[in-house]
Amino acid sequence: MAAYTLTKAGHKVLMLEAGRDYDPVKETPMLNTNGEALLMGAGTVDKDFGFYDATVDGGWTVPGEPYTTGESSDFYWWRARMLGGRTNHWGRFSLRFSKHDFKGFSRDGLGADWPIEYADLAPWYDKTEELVGVCGTNTGLDDMPDSAEGILQPPPKARVTELLVSAAAKTLGIPTAPMHRAVLTRAKGDRQACFYASPCGRGCSLGAAFQTTTSLIPMAKATGNLRVLTDAMVKEVNVDENGKVNAITYIDKKTAKQHKLAARVVILAASACESARLLLNSKSGNFPVGLANSSGQVGRNIMDSTGTGLGAHIPALEGRPIYNEDGHSSNHLFIPWWGHKQQAKGELDFPRGYHYELNSGFKEPGAGVGGKLQGYGKALKDQVKRITAPESD
Ligand SMILES: Cc1cc2nc3c(=O)[nH]c(=O)nc-3n(C[C@H](O)[C@H](O)[C@H](O)COP(=O)(O)OP(=O)(O)OC[C@H]3O[C@@H](n4cnc5c(N)ncnc54)[C@H](O)[C@@H]3O)c2cc1C
Repeated sequence: MAAYTLTKAGHKVLMLEAGRDYDPVKETPMLNTNGEALLMGAGTVDKDFGFYDATVDGGWTVPGEPYTTGESSDFYWWRARMLGGRTNHWGRFSLRFSKHDFKGFSRDGLGADWPIEYADLAPWYDKTEELVGVCGTNTGLDDMPDSAEGILQPPPKARVTELLVSAAAKTLGIPTAPMHRAVLTRAKGDRQACFYASPCGRGCSLGAAFQTTTSLIPMAKATGNLRVLTDAMVKEVNVDENGKVNAITYIDKKTAKQHKLAARVVILAASACESARLLLNSKSGNFPVGLANSSGQVGRNIMDSTGTGLGAHIPALEGRPIYNEDGHSSNHLFIPWWGHKQQAKGELDFPRGYHYELNSGFKEPGAGVGGKLQGYGKALKDQVKRITAPESD
Protein backbone atom coordinates (compact mmCIF):
# COMPACT_ATOMS: atom_id res chain seq x y z
CA MET A 1 0.00 0.00 0.00
CA ALA A 2 2.91 2.31 0.78
CA ALA A 3 4.53 1.42 -2.57
CA TYR A 4 1.29 2.22 -4.40
CA THR A 5 0.83 5.56 -2.66
CA LEU A 6 4.46 6.62 -3.16
CA THR A 7 4.74 5.53 -6.80
CA LYS A 8 1.47 7.28 -7.58
CA ALA A 9 2.93 10.44 -6.06
CA GLY A 10 5.89 10.14 -8.47
CA HIS A 11 8.52 8.53 -6.22
CA LYS A 12 10.74 5.67 -7.40
CA VAL A 13 10.25 2.60 -5.22
CA LEU A 14 12.14 -0.69 -5.04
CA MET A 15 10.18 -3.46 -3.32
CA LEU A 16 12.17 -6.36 -1.89
CA GLU A 17 10.15 -9.52 -1.34
CA ALA A 18 11.60 -12.58 0.42
CA GLY A 19 9.23 -14.97 -1.32
CA ARG A 20 8.71 -15.92 -4.92
CA ASP A 21 6.91 -14.02 -7.63
CA TYR A 22 3.20 -14.89 -7.97
CA ASP A 23 0.78 -14.22 -10.78
CA PRO A 24 -2.81 -14.87 -9.62
CA VAL A 25 -4.19 -14.57 -13.13
CA LYS A 26 -2.14 -17.56 -14.29
CA GLU A 27 -1.84 -19.48 -11.04
CA THR A 28 -5.19 -19.34 -9.25
CA PRO A 29 -7.13 -22.63 -9.44
CA MET A 30 -10.46 -20.86 -9.07
CA LEU A 31 -12.71 -23.38 -10.73
CA ASN A 32 -10.95 -26.69 -10.10
CA THR A 33 -13.04 -29.24 -8.24
CA ASN A 34 -12.01 -30.91 -5.01
CA GLY A 35 -12.24 -34.25 -6.81
CA GLU A 36 -9.35 -33.19 -9.06
CA ALA A 37 -7.09 -32.57 -6.06
CA LEU A 38 -5.02 -34.93 -3.98
CA LEU A 39 -6.93 -36.12 -0.88
CA MET A 40 -10.03 -34.25 -2.10
CA GLY A 41 -8.18 -30.98 -1.51
CA ALA A 42 -7.61 -31.60 2.22
CA GLY A 43 -4.90 -29.74 4.12
CA THR A 44 -1.45 -31.33 4.40
CA VAL A 45 1.84 -30.36 6.05
CA ASP A 46 2.88 -28.61 2.82
CA LYS A 47 -0.50 -26.97 2.23
CA ASP A 48 -2.05 -26.35 5.64
CA PHE A 49 -5.18 -24.66 4.31
CA GLY A 50 -5.80 -27.24 1.60
CA PHE A 51 -4.48 -28.22 -1.81
CA TYR A 52 -5.83 -25.15 -3.60
CA ASP A 53 -4.92 -22.54 -0.97
CA ALA A 54 -3.38 -19.39 -2.42
CA THR A 55 -0.34 -19.58 -0.17
CA VAL A 56 1.85 -21.25 -2.75
CA ASP A 57 4.93 -20.74 -0.61
CA GLY A 58 5.14 -20.54 3.16
CA GLY A 59 2.70 -21.43 5.90
CA TRP A 60 3.01 -22.45 9.54
CA THR A 61 6.48 -23.74 8.68
CA VAL A 62 8.83 -22.26 6.09
CA PRO A 63 11.60 -24.53 4.81
CA GLY A 64 14.99 -22.89 5.37
CA GLU A 65 13.63 -20.52 8.01
CA PRO A 66 14.10 -22.03 11.47
CA TYR A 67 11.39 -21.08 13.93
CA THR A 68 11.38 -21.69 17.67
CA THR A 69 9.13 -20.59 20.50
CA GLY A 70 9.82 -19.88 24.15
CA GLU A 71 9.44 -22.64 26.71
CA SER A 72 5.81 -23.76 27.11
CA SER A 73 4.76 -21.26 24.44
CA ASP A 74 2.51 -22.36 21.62
CA PHE A 75 2.59 -19.39 19.29
CA TYR A 76 2.23 -20.26 15.60
CA TRP A 77 2.98 -17.63 13.05
CA TRP A 78 1.65 -17.89 9.51
CA ARG A 79 4.30 -16.69 7.11
CA ALA A 80 3.35 -16.42 3.45
CA ARG A 81 6.56 -16.23 1.43
CA MET A 82 5.30 -14.91 -1.86
CA LEU A 83 4.59 -11.62 -3.58
CA GLY A 84 1.52 -10.11 -1.91
CA GLY A 85 2.16 -11.96 1.36
CA ARG A 86 -0.89 -13.02 3.35
CA THR A 87 -3.23 -10.82 1.30
CA ASN A 88 -3.43 -13.63 -1.27
CA HIS A 89 -5.46 -15.84 1.05
CA TRP A 90 -6.67 -13.74 4.00
CA GLY A 91 -10.34 -13.98 5.01
CA ARG A 92 -11.09 -10.50 3.61
CA PHE A 93 -13.03 -9.60 6.76
CA SER A 94 -12.49 -5.87 6.95
CA LEU A 95 -13.57 -4.59 10.32
CA ARG A 96 -12.63 -1.31 11.94
CA PHE A 97 -11.52 -0.93 15.51
CA SER A 98 -14.25 0.91 17.40
CA LYS A 99 -13.87 3.75 19.87
CA HIS A 100 -13.92 1.10 22.64
CA ASP A 101 -10.92 -0.71 21.17
CA PHE A 102 -8.90 2.47 21.49
CA LYS A 103 -10.12 3.29 24.98
CA GLY A 104 -10.66 -0.12 26.56
CA PHE A 105 -9.20 0.88 29.91
CA SER A 106 -11.64 3.79 30.23
CA ARG A 107 -14.49 1.38 29.60
CA ASP A 108 -13.63 -1.59 31.79
CA GLY A 109 -10.40 -0.74 33.64
CA LEU A 110 -8.36 -3.41 31.84
CA GLY A 111 -5.13 -2.91 29.87
CA ALA A 112 -4.29 0.61 28.76
CA ASP A 113 -5.94 3.24 26.57
CA TRP A 114 -4.27 4.01 23.25
CA PRO A 115 -2.78 7.51 22.94
CA ILE A 116 -4.92 8.05 19.82
CA GLU A 117 -8.62 7.67 19.39
CA TYR A 118 -11.01 6.34 16.79
CA ALA A 119 -11.72 9.80 15.33
CA ASP A 120 -8.01 10.21 14.49
CA LEU A 121 -8.12 7.13 12.27
CA ALA A 122 -11.65 7.33 10.85
CA PRO A 123 -10.68 9.30 7.69
CA TRP A 124 -7.85 6.81 7.03
CA TYR A 125 -10.22 3.88 7.36
CA ASP A 126 -12.43 5.59 4.77
CA LYS A 127 -9.49 6.08 2.39
CA THR A 128 -8.35 2.48 2.81
CA GLU A 129 -11.82 0.97 2.38
CA GLU A 130 -12.35 3.05 -0.74
CA LEU A 131 -9.01 1.92 -2.20
CA VAL A 132 -9.40 -1.74 -1.26
CA GLY A 133 -13.14 -2.03 -2.03
CA VAL A 134 -15.21 -3.21 0.92
CA CYS A 135 -18.85 -4.32 0.90
CA GLY A 136 -21.26 -4.08 3.81
CA THR A 137 -23.66 -1.57 5.29
CA ASN A 138 -23.55 1.10 7.95
CA THR A 139 -25.38 -0.14 11.02
CA GLY A 140 -24.93 2.65 13.56
CA LEU A 141 -23.84 0.01 16.07
CA ASP A 142 -21.43 1.19 18.73
CA ASP A 143 -18.98 -1.66 18.16
CA MET A 144 -19.10 -1.50 14.38
CA PRO A 145 -18.25 2.05 13.27
CA ASP A 146 -19.92 3.41 10.14
CA SER A 147 -17.95 4.33 7.04
CA ALA A 148 -18.37 7.70 5.32
CA GLU A 149 -21.35 7.87 2.98
CA GLY A 150 -20.80 6.10 -0.35
CA ILE A 151 -17.67 4.19 0.65
CA LEU A 152 -19.12 0.71 1.15
CA GLN A 153 -20.31 -1.37 -1.78
CA PRO A 154 -23.67 -3.16 -1.30
CA PRO A 155 -23.38 -6.45 0.63
CA PRO A 156 -24.55 -9.76 -0.80
CA LYS A 157 -27.92 -11.02 0.44
CA ALA A 158 -27.97 -13.00 3.67
CA ARG A 159 -28.40 -16.76 3.16
CA VAL A 160 -31.27 -18.69 4.64
CA THR A 161 -29.08 -20.09 7.47
CA GLU A 162 -27.92 -16.61 8.34
CA LEU A 163 -31.49 -15.34 8.39
CA LEU A 164 -32.40 -18.17 10.74
CA VAL A 165 -29.55 -17.32 13.12
CA SER A 166 -30.36 -13.64 12.82
CA ALA A 167 -33.99 -14.23 13.82
CA ALA A 168 -32.90 -16.36 16.78
CA ALA A 169 -30.31 -13.76 17.84
CA LYS A 170 -32.95 -11.04 17.68
CA THR A 171 -35.09 -12.84 20.24
CA LEU A 172 -32.05 -12.81 22.56
CA GLY A 173 -31.34 -9.13 21.96
CA ILE A 174 -28.11 -9.88 20.06
CA PRO A 175 -27.49 -7.70 16.99
CA THR A 176 -26.55 -9.09 13.58
CA ALA A 177 -25.19 -7.13 10.64
CA PRO A 178 -23.95 -7.67 7.08
CA MET A 179 -20.26 -8.56 7.29
CA HIS A 180 -17.79 -6.01 5.94
CA ARG A 181 -15.59 -7.85 3.48
CA ALA A 182 -12.97 -6.76 0.99
CA VAL A 183 -14.81 -8.47 -1.86
CA LEU A 184 -16.23 -6.42 -4.71
CA THR A 185 -19.95 -6.69 -5.40
CA ARG A 186 -19.53 -4.00 -8.09
CA ALA A 187 -16.66 -3.79 -10.60
CA LYS A 188 -13.92 -1.32 -9.66
CA GLY A 189 -11.32 -0.15 -12.19
CA ASP A 190 -9.75 -3.25 -13.74
CA ARG A 191 -11.14 -5.45 -10.99
CA GLN A 192 -14.34 -7.40 -11.64
CA ALA A 193 -17.22 -8.03 -9.26
CA CYS A 194 -17.41 -11.39 -7.52
CA PHE A 195 -19.41 -14.02 -9.41
CA TYR A 196 -19.68 -16.31 -6.39
CA ALA A 197 -18.09 -19.42 -7.78
CA SER A 198 -14.87 -20.09 -5.93
CA PRO A 199 -13.54 -20.06 -2.33
CA CYS A 200 -11.70 -16.76 -1.73
CA GLY A 201 -8.87 -18.60 0.05
CA ARG A 202 -7.70 -19.95 -3.30
CA GLY A 203 -6.95 -16.43 -4.39
CA CYS A 204 -8.93 -14.44 -6.91
CA SER A 205 -7.72 -13.97 -10.47
CA LEU A 206 -10.57 -11.49 -11.15
CA GLY A 207 -9.41 -9.11 -8.48
CA ALA A 208 -12.84 -9.28 -6.82
CA ALA A 209 -11.45 -10.51 -3.49
CA PHE A 210 -8.84 -7.95 -2.53
CA GLN A 211 -5.22 -9.04 -2.71
CA THR A 212 -2.31 -6.79 -3.55
CA THR A 213 -1.16 -9.02 -6.44
CA THR A 214 -4.26 -8.11 -8.49
CA SER A 215 -4.59 -4.53 -7.34
CA LEU A 216 -2.02 -2.34 -5.62
CA ILE A 217 1.12 -4.00 -7.03
CA PRO A 218 -0.03 -3.92 -10.71
CA MET A 219 -1.42 -0.41 -10.12
CA ALA A 220 1.94 0.72 -8.69
CA LYS A 221 3.82 -0.98 -11.55
CA ALA A 222 1.61 0.84 -14.06
CA THR A 223 3.04 4.16 -12.86
CA GLY A 224 6.45 3.06 -14.14
CA ASN A 225 7.93 3.88 -10.75
CA LEU A 226 7.95 0.48 -9.07
CA ARG A 227 10.56 -2.23 -9.38
CA VAL A 228 9.98 -5.51 -7.58
CA LEU A 229 12.80 -7.87 -6.59
CA THR A 230 11.55 -11.27 -5.44
CA ASP A 231 13.56 -13.96 -3.57
CA ALA A 232 15.32 -11.05 -1.86
CA MET A 233 15.48 -11.64 1.90
CA VAL A 234 16.30 -8.42 3.72
CA LYS A 235 18.83 -8.98 6.48
CA GLU A 236 19.25 -5.58 8.09
CA VAL A 237 18.78 -1.85 7.70
CA ASN A 238 22.07 0.06 7.57
CA VAL A 239 22.81 3.52 8.99
CA ASP A 240 25.61 6.06 8.44
CA GLU A 241 27.93 7.40 11.16
CA ASN A 242 25.22 9.87 12.22
CA GLY A 243 22.70 7.11 12.72
CA LYS A 244 20.69 8.02 9.60
CA VAL A 245 19.34 5.16 7.49
CA ASN A 246 21.30 4.96 4.23
CA ALA A 247 21.03 1.39 2.90
CA ILE A 248 19.62 -2.08 3.33
CA THR A 249 21.39 -5.43 3.13
CA TYR A 250 19.64 -8.40 1.58
CA ILE A 251 20.40 -11.96 0.56
CA ASP A 252 19.51 -13.11 -2.94
CA LYS A 253 17.98 -16.48 -2.08
CA LYS A 254 18.71 -17.93 -5.54
CA THR A 255 22.47 -17.29 -5.36
CA ALA A 256 22.90 -17.01 -1.54
CA LYS A 257 24.86 -13.81 -2.25
CA GLN A 258 24.61 -10.77 0.00
CA HIS A 259 23.98 -7.32 -1.50
CA LYS A 260 23.82 -3.81 -0.09
CA LEU A 261 21.58 -1.19 -1.71
CA ALA A 262 21.71 2.53 -0.98
CA ALA A 263 18.39 4.00 0.11
CA ARG A 264 17.22 7.44 1.16
CA VAL A 265 14.08 6.11 2.82
CA VAL A 266 13.34 2.58 4.02
CA ILE A 267 9.84 1.32 4.85
CA LEU A 268 9.68 -2.00 6.66
CA ALA A 269 6.46 -3.82 5.78
CA ALA A 270 7.55 -7.42 6.32
CA SER A 271 4.67 -8.17 8.76
CA ALA A 272 4.62 -7.23 12.43
CA CYS A 273 6.98 -9.94 13.70
CA GLU A 274 9.49 -9.88 10.85
CA SER A 275 9.65 -6.07 10.76
CA ALA A 276 10.42 -6.15 14.50
CA ARG A 277 13.06 -8.84 13.95
CA LEU A 278 14.71 -6.72 11.23
CA LEU A 279 14.85 -3.71 13.56
CA LEU A 280 16.43 -5.88 16.28
CA ASN A 281 18.92 -7.29 13.75
CA SER A 282 19.92 -3.79 12.64
CA LYS A 283 22.48 -3.14 15.37
CA SER A 284 25.18 -0.48 15.04
CA GLY A 285 27.33 1.81 17.20
CA ASN A 286 24.46 4.29 17.37
CA PHE A 287 21.85 1.59 17.95
CA PRO A 288 23.44 -1.20 20.03
CA VAL A 289 20.10 -2.89 20.82
CA GLY A 290 18.62 -2.49 17.35
CA LEU A 291 17.09 0.31 15.34
CA ALA A 292 14.27 2.41 16.87
CA ASN A 293 14.58 0.39 20.06
CA SER A 294 15.78 2.89 22.67
CA SER A 295 12.69 1.91 24.69
CA GLY A 296 13.66 -1.77 24.57
CA GLN A 297 10.06 -2.49 23.59
CA VAL A 298 10.58 -3.59 19.97
CA GLY A 299 9.48 -7.20 19.64
CA ARG A 300 7.61 -7.25 22.94
CA ASN A 301 3.92 -7.10 23.93
CA ILE A 302 2.62 -8.82 20.82
CA MET A 303 -1.15 -9.15 20.63
CA ASP A 304 -2.89 -11.56 18.32
CA SER A 305 -6.52 -12.17 17.55
CA THR A 306 -7.68 -15.55 18.77
CA GLY A 307 -10.65 -17.54 17.63
CA THR A 308 -12.21 -20.95 17.64
CA GLY A 309 -14.53 -22.88 15.35
CA LEU A 310 -17.86 -24.45 16.20
CA GLY A 311 -20.00 -26.49 13.81
CA ALA A 312 -23.68 -27.28 14.15
CA HIS A 313 -26.20 -29.35 12.25
CA ILE A 314 -29.59 -27.66 12.15
CA PRO A 315 -32.32 -30.24 11.43
CA ALA A 316 -34.75 -27.48 10.42
CA LEU A 317 -32.54 -26.80 7.39
CA GLU A 318 -32.34 -30.42 6.28
CA GLY A 319 -34.01 -31.66 3.16
CA ARG A 320 -34.79 -28.29 1.65
CA PRO A 321 -34.60 -28.03 -2.11
CA ILE A 322 -31.04 -27.84 -3.39
CA TYR A 323 -30.35 -24.66 -5.27
CA ASN A 324 -27.36 -22.56 -6.13
CA GLU A 325 -26.81 -20.74 -2.85
CA ASP A 326 -24.86 -17.92 -4.40
CA GLY A 327 -22.52 -15.82 -2.41
CA HIS A 328 -19.09 -15.35 -0.90
CA SER A 329 -17.31 -18.44 0.29
CA SER A 330 -17.63 -16.93 3.73
CA ASN A 331 -20.36 -15.33 5.78
CA HIS A 332 -22.62 -12.54 4.55
CA LEU A 333 -24.01 -11.81 7.98
CA PHE A 334 -22.25 -11.76 11.30
CA ILE A 335 -22.75 -10.99 14.95
CA PRO A 336 -20.64 -7.94 15.79
CA TRP A 337 -18.78 -7.64 19.10
CA TRP A 338 -21.14 -8.07 22.00
CA GLY A 339 -20.95 -9.38 25.55
CA HIS A 340 -19.51 -6.34 27.33
CA LYS A 341 -22.62 -6.00 29.44
CA GLN A 342 -22.72 -9.72 30.21
CA GLN A 343 -19.10 -9.53 31.31
CA ALA A 344 -19.82 -6.52 33.51
CA LYS A 345 -22.68 -8.48 35.10
CA GLY A 346 -20.36 -11.44 35.76
CA GLU A 347 -22.12 -13.67 33.19
CA LEU A 348 -18.92 -14.14 31.16
CA ASP A 349 -15.63 -15.19 32.74
CA PHE A 350 -13.51 -13.31 30.21
CA PRO A 351 -13.41 -9.64 29.26
CA ARG A 352 -14.80 -7.77 26.29
CA GLY A 353 -17.08 -10.35 24.71
CA TYR A 354 -16.67 -11.75 21.22
CA HIS A 355 -18.06 -11.78 17.71
CA TYR A 356 -19.39 -14.57 15.50
CA GLU A 357 -18.51 -15.18 11.89
CA LEU A 358 -21.15 -17.56 10.52
CA ASN A 359 -20.36 -19.84 7.62
CA SER A 360 -23.07 -21.90 6.03
CA GLY A 361 -24.81 -22.92 2.85
CA PHE A 362 -24.66 -25.47 0.06
CA LYS A 363 -21.09 -26.07 -1.02
CA GLU A 364 -19.10 -28.54 -3.03
CA PRO A 365 -18.20 -31.24 -0.47
CA GLY A 366 -14.53 -31.30 0.54
CA ALA A 367 -12.53 -34.04 2.22
CA GLY A 368 -13.93 -33.19 5.67
CA VAL A 369 -17.49 -34.12 4.76
CA GLY A 370 -16.72 -37.87 4.93
CA GLY A 371 -16.06 -37.74 8.67
CA LYS A 372 -19.71 -37.06 9.34
CA LEU A 373 -21.19 -39.74 7.08
CA GLN A 374 -21.81 -43.46 7.18
CA GLY A 375 -22.61 -46.08 4.58
CA TYR A 376 -22.06 -46.17 0.83
CA GLY A 377 -23.84 -46.01 -2.50
CA LYS A 378 -27.10 -44.11 -2.90
CA ALA A 379 -27.65 -43.86 0.86
CA LEU A 380 -24.28 -42.11 1.20
CA LYS A 381 -25.01 -39.73 -1.67
CA ASP A 382 -28.36 -38.87 -0.15
CA GLN A 383 -26.66 -38.06 3.15
CA VAL A 384 -24.14 -35.83 1.38
CA LYS A 385 -27.00 -33.93 -0.22
CA ARG A 386 -28.75 -33.58 3.10
CA ILE A 387 -25.74 -32.47 5.17
CA THR A 388 -23.04 -30.78 3.12
CA ALA A 389 -20.20 -29.37 5.16
CA PRO A 390 -19.17 -25.91 3.98
CA GLU A 391 -15.69 -25.76 2.50
CA SER A 392 -13.71 -23.51 4.76
CA ASP A 393 -12.06 -20.33 3.51
C1 LIG B 1 -5.53 -17.56 7.40
C2 LIG B 1 -5.53 -16.04 7.63
C3 LIG B 1 -6.72 -15.35 7.55
C4 LIG B 1 -6.75 -13.97 7.79
N1 LIG B 1 -7.93 -13.31 7.70
C5 LIG B 1 -7.99 -11.99 7.97
C6 LIG B 1 -9.23 -11.29 7.87
O1 LIG B 1 -10.25 -11.84 7.52
N2 LIG B 1 -9.23 -9.97 8.18
C7 LIG B 1 -8.08 -9.32 8.57
O2 LIG B 1 -8.15 -8.11 8.84
N3 LIG B 1 -6.89 -9.95 8.62
C8 LIG B 1 -6.81 -11.26 8.33
N4 LIG B 1 -5.61 -11.91 8.37
C9 LIG B 1 -4.41 -11.14 8.71
C10 LIG B 1 -3.87 -10.39 7.49
O3 LIG B 1 -3.68 -11.27 6.43
C11 LIG B 1 -2.54 -9.75 7.88
O4 LIG B 1 -2.71 -8.97 9.03
C12 LIG B 1 -1.98 -8.85 6.78
O5 LIG B 1 -1.86 -9.53 5.56
C13 LIG B 1 -0.62 -8.35 7.23
O6 LIG B 1 -0.04 -7.60 6.20
P1 LIG B 1 1.50 -7.32 6.22
O7 LIG B 1 1.82 -6.59 4.96
O8 LIG B 1 1.87 -6.71 7.52
O9 LIG B 1 2.22 -8.74 6.22
P2 LIG B 1 2.18 -9.94 5.17
O10 LIG B 1 0.90 -9.98 4.42
O11 LIG B 1 2.61 -11.17 5.92
O12 LIG B 1 3.32 -9.54 4.14
C14 LIG B 1 4.67 -9.47 4.52
C15 LIG B 1 5.52 -9.73 3.30
O13 LIG B 1 6.88 -9.45 3.64
C16 LIG B 1 7.71 -10.50 3.16
N5 LIG B 1 8.89 -10.58 4.02
C17 LIG B 1 8.96 -11.07 5.29
N6 LIG B 1 10.23 -10.97 5.76
C18 LIG B 1 10.96 -10.39 4.78
C19 LIG B 1 12.34 -10.03 4.68
N7 LIG B 1 13.20 -10.24 5.67
N8 LIG B 1 12.75 -9.47 3.51
C20 LIG B 1 11.87 -9.24 2.49
N9 LIG B 1 10.56 -9.58 2.55
C21 LIG B 1 10.12 -10.14 3.67
C22 LIG B 1 6.84 -11.75 3.24
O14 LIG B 1 7.31 -12.77 2.38
C23 LIG B 1 5.48 -11.20 2.84
O15 LIG B 1 5.27 -11.22 1.45
C24 LIG B 1 -5.54 -13.29 8.11
C25 LIG B 1 -4.34 -13.98 8.15
C26 LIG B 1 -4.32 -15.36 7.92
C27 LIG B 1 -3.00 -16.09 7.97
